[in-house]
Amino acid sequence: MATDRYDAIIVGSGPAGMGAAFSLVENKKDISILMIDKSPVSTGGMRNDCKMNFTFPIGFPEEYWTEDEANKYLDIVSDKLKPRIFPKENIKTYQERAKRLDSSLLEIKQTHLGTDGGLSLIKELLKELERRNVTLSLGEEALSIDGNNRILHTNKRDILFKSILIAPGRQGFSFLQDLMHELDIPYMDNIVDIGIRVETRLEHYPIVKDYYDPKFYFPEKVRTFCTNSGNAHVVKEKYQTKRGDIWYSVNGHAYSKDEKKDNGLVNFAMLKTVKFTEPLASGQDFAEHLGVMAAMMGGGKPLMQRVGDFRMGRRSKLSTFNDDLYDFEPSLRDCCPSDISLAMPSKILRYIWAAMKKLDTIVPGILHPSTIMYYPEIKLYANKPQYLDNHFQVKEGIFFAGDGAGTSRGITGAWASGIRASEGMDEYV
Ligand SMILES: Cc1cc2nc3c(=O)[nH]c(=O)nc-3n(C[C@H](O)[C@H](O)[C@H](O)COP(=O)(O)OP(=O)(O)OC[C@H]3O[C@@H](n4cnc5c(N)ncnc54)[C@H](O)[C@@H]3O)c2cc1C
Repeated sequence: MATDRYDAIIVGSGPAGMGAAFSLVENKKDISILMIDKSPVSTGGMRNDCKMNFTFPIGFPEEYWTEDEANKYLDIVSDKLKPRIFPKENIKTYQERAKRLDSSLLEIKQTHLGTDGGLSLIKELLKELERRNVTLSLGEEALSIDGNNRILHTNKRDILFKSILIAPGRQGFSFLQDLMHELDIPYMDNIVDIGIRVETRLEHYPIVKDYYDPKFYFPEKVRTFCTNSGNAHVVKEKYQTKRGDIWYSVNGHAYSKDEKKDNGLVNFAMLKTVKFTEPLASGQDFAEHLGVMAAMMGGGKPLMQRVGDFRMGRRSKLSTFNDDLYDFEPSLRDCCPSDISLAMPSKILRYIWAAMKKLDTIVPGILHPSTIMYYPEIKLYANKPQYLDNHFQVKEGIFFAGDGAGTSRGITGAWASGIRASEGMDEYV
């Protein structure tokens, strides 16, 4: 029998959860709110690099957001987070070059706090929530929901609620799928982003001096994503399939600006969106198979190849990886020098390579032989549940939001989704 009860429960202390929590405390002063997170320290994606984009459609999946709607919520996010928008220079030249190649460079309002800056911001925001009477329980994991009796089962207890927001991020992808099966919520997950992470010397991609995270869009749904520079690093994220196979996706981040720690490198993802139609396949299953195959080829590690080797059609080896022209060390050392073309579906590789060549024409230098291509970088696009209303309600009193639920693809979009969900929760509390 559940003894604890709250008017509103928020699962996940990432930006979606925070957006909802701040909106609830501001609009409903007297309600009891519990925020839980399975991690013992509040993590959430804001502690990864923490670049924030304040321009539609970056981070806002267009099936759920119109530009007007997104802008309305972005104003609220901006009021709360008070970003210092970075200036951009010389953009027109790059935009014109891109246009000539049937590509585009979006102009985005952007700021960057860095991984360390993001952590400080999270701490400040959580302190503020606690001061405003939100109960925070870290190290508590949501396991399942009894939708009829409105009870949340966690690894510690059962809790009654009037309304609940589930915002577990991308890492909660499988948890959300299990919940949707339990609660009988129809969903699709037929889209996935697959690609590489590119790492090079700053002088080979100087555009980042003018535009911190340049958003290029190329034909065939290929785009640049999540550019990091300064004290920038490629990292690997561990995933496990339901069968227990381990695989890794690469990713990237940078610390806040500190000239003494600058490693002179830039990294960014070049991703292709793949959408399955007939027969409708699961993006997650497809991505997992690719991830496991790459891990098999790399002896349990992600793969990396110098552009110089790739162009010559030969694999990079440990012995060739630091040859002559290959004059910088990879920031992710725990990676296997290899041949990415053996692991990547040819259609995806073809489009990505075509986009890399266009990018090299727009910003000459990126295809320097020393540039490293890491594989795989995979973004599970998210589950697409069948939402009952505009507030991402999936069952009476139960709401989903954030990257795992497909309502966002970035910090500001997640925060905005949380606010939008909280406006639906308002009716129950
Ligand atoms: C390396 C990296 C770099 C990134 N860089 C950027 C960037 O620079 N800019 C940008 O806009 N976006 C970036 N992103 C994406 C960004 O982090 C996400 O878009 C955003 O955090 C999504 O917010 P969310 O609230 O949906 O989920 P999250 O921020 O992932 O938060 C979900 C929270 O839920 C918790 N949780 C999960 N399951 C459970 C459960 N069962 N019970 C309880 N708690 C649970 C998790 O511990 C986590 O704290 C990056 C992501 C990564 C991985």
